[in-house]
Amino acid sequence: MSDTLTPISGHCLCGAVTVTMTPAVAEIHACHCSMCRRWAGSVFLEIDAVPGTLKSEGPVRIYQSSDWAERASCGRCGSPLWYRLTAPEANYHAVSAGLFDDAAGFPLTNEIYIDRKPPGFAFAGDHPRLTEAEFEADFVFQTEEETL
Ligand SMILES: [Zn+2]
Ligand SMILES: [Zn+2]
Repeated sequence: MSDTLTPISGHCLCGAVTVTMTPAVAEIHACHCSMCRRWAGSVFLEIDAVPGTLKSEGPVRIYQSSDWAERASCGRCGSPLWYRLTAPEANYHAVSAGLFDDAAGFPLTNEIYIDRKPPGFAFAGDHPRLTEAEFEADFVFQTEEETL
């Protein structure tokens, strides 16, 4: 799917932060890792942005959550905004689907860290569900490719 999608706009709970970005694909992805679970309130549902297209206005607070990533939230109401890989060559923003009306209307197409998902809930649908080991094997592969 190489067609460029239309930019979408959204905002946090209090409205102080507005965001605009072009989705890389018309898909929602879910992360069940323990960091996303705590940060996003159970599971992080995100839409990948085309590199360089994410723009925001308002009081954004950045928290460096690991050596390789940071998480942005509204400095007023605390709504999660996006997850960003901090390596300069990565240029990856995963934007919270909840900022957009109807979560942009996109379907959930992928779940990662499925083996970290609490047993008390599950998403329906027939889509890939990767374990931590499966996802990280793929992630390392991509990172090595980028550094070549
Ligand atoms: Zn806010
Ligand atoms: Zn996660």
